[in-house]
Parts: sequence; C-alpha cells; structure tokens
Amino acid sequence: MAERFDLVVRSRRAVTPEGERPASVAVRGGVIAAVESHDAELDAAQTVDCGADALLPGLVDSHVHINEPGRTEWEGFLSGTRAAAAGGITTLIDMPLNCVPPTTTTAALQTKRRSAEGRCYVDVGFWGGLVPDNLGELAALHAEGVFGFKCYLTDSGVVEFGYVTGRELEPAVAELSRLGALTIVHAEDQRELERAPWAHGGDYGDFLTSRPPEVETVAIAEIIELSRRYRARMHVLHLSAAEALPAIAASRARDVRLTVETCPHYLALSAEEVPAGATQFKCTPPIRQGANRDALWRALGEGVIDCVVSDHSPCPPQLKHLEVGDFGRAWGGIASLQLSLPVVWTHARRRGFGLVEVVRWMASGPARLAGLAGKGALAVGLDADLVRLAPEQTFTVVPSALHHRHRLTPYAGHELSGVVRTVWLRGQEVDVDGPARGRLLRRDDQAAEHAFHSGGGAQRDSSPPSGVAQFAAAAGDPAQSTVSESSSGPEPSTR
Ligand SMILES: [Zn+2]
Repeated sequence: MAERFDLVVRSRRAVTPEGERPASVAVRGGVIAAVESHDAELDAAQTVDCGADALLPGLVDSHVHINEPGRTEWEGFLSGTRAAAAGGITTLIDMPLNCVPPTTTTAALQTKRRSAEGRCYVDVGFWGGLVPDNLGELAALHAEGVFGFKCYLTDSGVVEFGYVTGRELEPAVAELSRLGALTIVHAEDQRELERAPWAHGGDYGDFLTSRPPEVETVAIAEIIELSRRYRARMHVLHLSAAEALPAIAASRARDVRLTVETCPHYLALSAEEVPAGATQFKCTPPIRQGANRDALWRALGEGVIDCVVSDHSPCPPQLKHLEVGDFGRAWGGIASLQLSLPVVWTHARRRGFGLVEVVRWMASGPARLAGLAGKGALAVGLDADLVRLAPEQTFTVVPSALHHRHRLTPYAGHELSGVVRTVWLRGQEVDVDGPARGRLLRRDDQAAEHAFHSGGGAQRDSSPPSGVAQFAAAAGDPAQSTVSESSSGPEPSTR
C-alpha cells in the first residue's frame, strides 16, 4: 500500500539544499517525510500546487527583541510572532534584553517562558544574557536550554542590562567555552564611542560621526582575539562597518570559530538617503554610506558574512522623538520582522543573487548558528516549516498592513518584491487570526550530537560537536520532532 502523507506541497521552484528545482515536499506528523520529483505520485490528505510560486523552508530569525514581559507595549509575543509568520519566519530566537526582567537568570528565563507560553504563532527560543554580575548564573542558564549568551561591549540603551568591559568579558568567555556555549556580541567598543563626538541634532551625518567604523573594528578585534585564545564559538551581531571585513576574513583563515551576521537595513538603506530628523532610520551600529553597503553585499557573496537577521528592535513611536528629530535622543532600533524577507530578496535579486542565497543567509545560516538541526532546510527529517512565496510579485509597504505592535518603519512607501502567500509550521498552515501553535524551543546538545554523528552535522561544520546545539520542543510537549538517520541536515555553509 502506498504511504499516505498529511500534506504534499508541489513547486517548480523549491529551494532545497541541492539548489532551486521542481519538487514535491511530503509531510507526515509535522516533519518532512520525503522530497520527491515534482510529478511524483504521492497520496496525501491535502495537496497544494504552488504553480509559479517558490517554496522555501521557513526562515529562522536569530535576532529578535520581543520585549515581553516588562515592555510589552514595545512589542509582545502575540504581535511579534504574528508579524514573523506573516513575513515567512517560522522560528525566532528572542534577545535577552528590553524585556524586564532581562534573561540573565534562570528565574527570569522561567518568567519569560511563562509569558510566551501559548502566545506564539511561530516557534520561539531564547538567548541568555551575559552581564557584569551574572558569571555564576551562566552554567545554570545554559543547562536550562538557552541557545547562547548575548553581551554588550557598550551601553545597551536600557539600565537593567549592563555592558561588560574587557576585564569582565574574558573570564566569561573562558567559562562559556568550557560549557561549549556560544557567545554573541554587540560589537561596539565603549571607549572608542566615548572618543567620538556625542550624537546630537537632526543631521544624519553628525550621527554617523558619533559612531565611526573604529567603534566596531576595535570591538571585533577583541572578539577575534578572545575566540582564538579560548577556542570559543563567538558571533558578531549586526555587522555594519565594512572596515571590519578583512580582519574577519583573516580570522577564518586562522581557523578562529567566529561567525557574523548583518541586517536588512544595512543591505537595503544608505546614509545618503536618510532625511534630516528621520529617526525611524536610527539604529546602532548605524546605517552607513552606499559604498559600505556594497561591501557588505560582496562579503555575503563571498561567505564572509554568514547570516542576515532582522534585529527587530521596536519601541513606541514617541521614543523616536520624531517631532524634534534628534538622532541623539531617539531610541536606536528598527522594526522589520515582517519585511525582512522581501527587503532582502528585493535587493539580492538586483545584485544577481537567487533564492538559494537568500535561504542560506536567512534560514540555514541562522539555524546552524543557533544549532537548530531540525530547522532551516527543505530536507527529510526536518520540521515541515514551509513558505510559499510569489517572488516576482511586488507590493508597496503600507504601515497599516504590518502586524508589528508599532508601525513606524523606514521602509514606508518602498516597493518590494516577494509576497508571502502561505506559511506552514510543522505541516500546519499558520492563520494569524487563529490559534497560536508555536512551540517554545530549548537547546538540546544530545540531539545535536546525534544529528552530528548521523551525518546531519558532520558535513556542515568541521568544528567539534560540543559547541553545536539542537532544538527540542518545550518541556511537557512529548510530540517533539527528532532528526532521523536519513536527514541530510541544513545545507552546508559556503565556508
Ligand atoms: Zn538587537
């Protein structure tokens, strides 16, 4: 008797680890059970033919600030994950700050999990925080399943999340390396920042002068050195300054375990186009000149930058102080969760990249970063997180169509390519007006090791498995998916 599947999705443009090709993706029990030819005879309860639309794995966004609990009026789990689902993102990892309490203790992690429970439209995991006074908490937080630890090397913007000095960072990196944990760093150096002129006024050029490239390059040099010294897995968050790229590329040649991300706004926007007083463009590090943007694209093409993630960091519009338009006073952060796929795709295609690259930067790359072996690719054994995308269809960004809690966006009025038509989470179509079926994820080193030894991880990374994490459903949910022996895992990185 023929196998019966729950769902079969056919597309002439399925973005698989082997490239973009016609294929049928068959789902059973929430997991991709088979990837067959486009015309394969497959018996299923439901079959969807995407016609000319592409089929992508659900995107993984490893850099999202949800802000709940404590600053839910900035963004919450319901609104944030609705926006993610609408934008083709099926997994996100939430940052440990801007919520109150910040995720720097196991108690705070429990508080956050309770806030998120039953209120997520996509799967959600959590980063822990590394702050000056919580060295003693890191092992316990790691054991509780956070995906790694975020720290700042400069003022974070909120008082309850302090930044670490070099003196505080080094013992923490030693400890995290011992645990096999990933350290992710906001790479701006406080002393360099203090040397630069203060940010003030409505002129964007003045704001740029207040955060010159050295603020990033000095911090990144320190990270590279610590990563080398402790054989520690470290990750540079939201790279903006292209001046740091040569040092990053050189560190790779020396086998330093460093990864790097950038964000849609550094790839799509440029300093030259920011109007005076337009603080909706303010983020840190800043959006730099067009030539810098071109260099970031080249680095993506060369595999020097691994991931593109949103750094969705919203605030209530009044904190942008648009009425005075002062770049010194305004909150630094851009909300873009729902738009990151079309923004990146629009600019990627203009520069000659395809959906294969977009999926590498926005799905398999971040999944690999976070150790989510069950996410980020159309491959057997992985969660059936699928996105039907009309790549050629264009739309104009209208803020009222955004599910973000606040709709202020630097992309208002932009014409973008790529309309997300349908999103499936573990084989079930996501309805943002229906029930929230996302799960809370926790890191699972054992499953990661299994995936690694069964072939899923081995081809993806030459580094030892100790630092590789994997996903699991939230505790109490026995129906978690596992990675099968036949899994080919997310596609290999270009490096
Ligand atoms: Zn951030």
